[in-house]
Amino acid sequence: MRKNIVAGNWKMNLGYEEGVSLFSEIVNMVKDEVIGNQEVVVCSPFIHLSSIAKLGASAANVHIGAQNIHQAESGAYTGEVSASQVKSVGAQYVILGHSERRAYFGETDAILAEKLNAALKHGLKPIFCIGETKEERESGRFFEVIKTQLEAGVFHLDQNDFASVVLAYEPVWAIGTGLTASPEQAQEVHAFIRETIAKQYGAEAAESTTILYGGSANPSNASTLFAQKDIDGGLIGGASLKSRDFLEIVKVFN
Ligand code: PEP
Repeated sequence: MRKNIVAGNWKMNLGYEEGVSLFSEIVNMVKDEVIGNQEVVVCSPFIHLSSIAKLGASAANVHIGAQNIHQAESGAYTGEVSASQVKSVGAQYVILGHSERRAYFGETDAILAEKLNAALKHGLKPIFCIGETKEERESGRFFEVIKTQLEAGVFHLDQNDFASVVLAYEPVWAIGTGLTASPEQAQEVHAFIRETIAKQYGAEAAESTTILYGGSANPSNASTLFAQKDIDGGLIGGASLKSRDFLEIVKVFN
């Protein structure tokens, strides 16, 4: 049975103390709510990772993730952080391919393929984001865009490595905009992603892959989104900065 995951993406928010205290609140609130095959992941800025990994160590099924890594092993890459460094502070996950990184930091499918390899080599589980822009949705090209992102960024992996990948469908037009894909729109794309995986890796791999929805998910819309057959949880931006909202979203799986 595939995992249900609710992952928070704090983006570039929260000072050190604020982040540590939000994480403590989240752990206290969610630790008894994360049940069965569900996991909660908090992807913080690098500055919080080491401290919150220690705080989270006692909470089963609450994991820590980074929001980016550099693809190189180590060396003269001022300002960057490698997969092994992230792993060394106790993080288990890393978000890769977020549309903000694709749009503002020039991360191409080819660069993301390298980042994916680096993450897997060091035992980090990638939450790999794919999704179309507003213009791509309106022109009806969204299936093609998503297929290309998978083929160019992910499908070089062998079956074994692919099994560690979590995918997140994040329509760019829904991120941070308050516009959410309708449950039907999201389900249609999630089903397409699963079919595309089945063609590449087989039906069993497709059935075991966790595919998250991201884009203005909140306590009011999460239950109808997560009730869709192919939606296995969410990548949550804005609503993950409020412990009560995040808790409500986590509780959808109870
Ligand atoms: C995100 O950035 O991954 C995201 C889904 O943001 P929001 O929930 O704020 O739309």
